[in-house]
Amino acid sequence: MKILVINAGSSSLKYQLYNMENESVLAKGRVERIGFESSILAHEPEGKEEVTEVSEILDHTTAIKKVVQMLIHKEHGILSSIDEIEAVGHRVVHGGESFSNSVIVTEEVKQEIKKLFDLAPLHNPAHIMGIQAVESTMPDVPQAVVFDTAFHQTMPASSYLYAIPKALYNKYKIRRYGFHGTSHDYVSDRAAAFLDKKPEDLKIVTCHIGNGVSCTAVKHGESFDTSMGMTPLEGLMMGTRSGDLDPAVVPYIMGKVDLRISEVNSMLNKHSGLMAISGDSSDMREIEEGMDAGDTNAKLAFDMYEYRLRKYIGSYAAAMDGMDVLVFTAGVGENSSTLRKRICDQLTFFGIELDDKINETRSKNERRISSSNSKVEVLVIPTNEELVIARDTYKLINN
Ligand code: AMP
Repeated sequence: MKILVINAGSSSLKYQLYNMENESVLAKGRVERIGFESSILAHEPEGKEEVTEVSEILDHTTAIKKVVQMLIHKEHGILSSIDEIEAVGHRVVHGGESFSNSVIVTEEVKQEIKKLFDLAPLHNPAHIMGIQAVESTMPDVPQAVVFDTAFHQTMPASSYLYAIPKALYNKYKIRRYGFHGTSHDYVSDRAAAFLDKKPEDLKIVTCHIGNGVSCTAVKHGESFDTSMGMTPLEGLMMGTRSGDLDPAVVPYIMGKVDLRISEVNSMLNKHSGLMAISGDSSDMREIEEGMDAGDTNAKLAFDMYEYRLRKYIGSYAAAMDGMDVLVFTAGVGENSSTLRKRICDQLTFFGIELDDKINETRSKNERRISSSNSKVEVLVIPTNEELVIARDTYKLINN
C-alpha cells in the first residue's frame, strides 16, 4: 500500500510517499512559494536524481497536482499511475480538545478543524487547504489527519490549566495544549523499545530540539506535562521564539514602543530566541561556530538556551518523581554533541553520566550515549513524524 504524507503550510507543502510494505520512502519533496509566480517544486525520488522545477503555483490544489504529476513523471516519477496512491495522511497542528487520536477525514472532522482556526491561525487553515486540494485531485482516495496536540490530551488539568479565571477556559478553551506530540510519542515509544522495556514502566523526559523546541514528561507511556502551551510560543527558548516570559512584558512593550498586537506576536515568534540574543542567527550550527570563535553574543545565546532546557528537564524529573530515561531528538538534539554534553554534565545530581566518546560519534542511528554507570539512560533517537503519520493513516484505513 502506498501512502502520501502531506504537511501543508500557508505558502509551502512538504510531502513523502511511503511504501507501507516495508515502510520505505519512495519519494519526498517540497513546494515553496505557493501563491507566487515563481514557485519551486523540489522533488527527491528514491534512487534517482533530485529535480527542481520553477513554475507558477497559485494555490494548494495546483501544488498537489504538480506533486502528483512529478510522482508519475516518466523520468523523475516513482509510480506508474496516480491510482497507486491508496491513502493520504496530513499533519494537522491543532486538534484542540476535540482530537486525542488520529482520525479519517469526514465533513465533521473538517468542521472541527475549522473551529480551531482561532487557536492556530497560521496552521489549521493551511491544513484544510491541503485536504481540499487532495479532495479535488484524488476524490476517491481516503484521507487521515494526525494532530500535533493529540498525544498531550492525556495531561491532567493540573498540567494543562493556566491559573487565570476559569471562565476563560470554559468559554474560549484557553489552556495548554502542547505540540510536537507526534515526535514525543514516537521517540518515547522507540526509547522503550530500544531498552527492551514497556513504556508503562518508564518515566521519560523527551527533548525535541529543532527549530522549535519542546520538552515532555512522558509518564508510563502518556504525556503528563509538556513545555509548549496554548500556542508553540510557551516554554523553551527556540531558534526565533522567546519561550517563557513574564506576561506583563507584553502590555509594557506595547505601551512603551507603540506596537500593535500582530507586531508583538511577530517579535516574540520570529525575532526572538537564539536570533535575538546572538543578534545574528537562529541556526545552532552557526551559534556554536560563533561561540568557538569567541563571539560573546553567540555564547550568551547558547548559555541561555542550554540553561532553560536543563531547568525544564529537572522540573519534569520532579513532576514525575523520577526520570529513568532522557531522550534527545530533532535537528539540534540529534546532532549537537556540544549541547548534549553541556546539559548532561550539569545533571550529575540525577546520577546522569555521559559516555563522551559515544556522544561525540556522529550517527543517524538510535543510540545510548550514557555510560554504564549512569542512573538515567540517555538516548539519542532520531524523530520521524512523517512515518507516524503514514503508520496512523495505514492503521485507520485498514480498520
Ligand atoms: P529541525 O527543526 O528538527 O529540522 O532542526 C533544525 C535545526 O537543527 C537547525 O536550525 C540547526 O540549527 C540544527 N542543526 C542541524 N544540524 C546541526 C548540527 N550538526 N549541529 C547543531 N545543530 C544542528
